[in-house]
Amino acid sequence: MGHLQENLGRVRQRIRDAAMRAGREPEAIRLLAVTKTVPVEQIQEVVDAGVDLLGENRVQELLAKHRQVRGSVRWHMIGTLQTNKVKYIYDKVDLIHSLDRLSLAQAINRYAARLGRPIDCLVEVNVAGEKSKHGVDRRDLISFIRDVTAFEGIHIRGLMTMAPYVDDPEETRPFFRDLYHLSREVDELGLQRVEMRHLSMGMSNDFEVAVEEGATIVRIGSSLFGGRS
Ligand SMILES: *Cc1c(COP(=O)(O)O)cnc(C)c1O
Repeated sequence: MGHLQENLGRVRQRIRDAAMRAGREPEAIRLLAVTKTVPVEQIQEVVDAGVDLLGENRVQELLAKHRQVRGSVRWHMIGTLQTNKVKYIYDKVDLIHSLDRLSLAQAINRYAARLGRPIDCLVEVNVAGEKSKHGVDRRDLISFIRDVTAFEGIHIRGLMTMAPYVDDPEETRPFFRDLYHLSREVDELGLQRVEMRHLSMGMSNDFEVAVEEGATIVRIGSSLFGGRS
């Protein structure tokens, strides 16, 4: 067994263990393999080993890998998206994790019309209020979502966040818990085309805590593929 398969087995086991600790069904958590900077051969190896969900945060890389990786995989856009780049990816991804401003919603909406169906998005939330991070300020989340509901081409399927990087993953717990509660709050509003089905939270450093706090998608790069240079 190659080392990528071993990594994959370990990550899957850690997801299962975290789910069990929290009394959750392990099947409720989807593993999204983050492929940024990873060569196609390595991506293919984890796909052949059963990974069916891939995430990229750069448009150019997504396009190249989308062309080259074989098998029944789905792609998600997880990184900051410029409005003028929506046109390259709108018909190649199943979910955009990084909706964080109305100008982007407007651009996505335009391409949804071309597709003839709404495009699924998560709203990225800056839970810790970090200046360096993208995402909607948590205090503005509900008014932002209300504004997005004006666009018929956008289905909001949940929330995404990147917790602050810390040495002790336990310190991320309050942020994940916060995102979970925000999603419940949004759900209760019962807005059109808004459904809090997904919480995309947890990366290599902190995914077990995220799973314990309700993540449905964990985005894992370096724990699968090794450190990025
Ligand atoms: C790179 C990246 C990840 C994965 O990070 P790792 O620490 O390598 O697991 C997850 N989400 C986003 C948005 C990223 O850019």
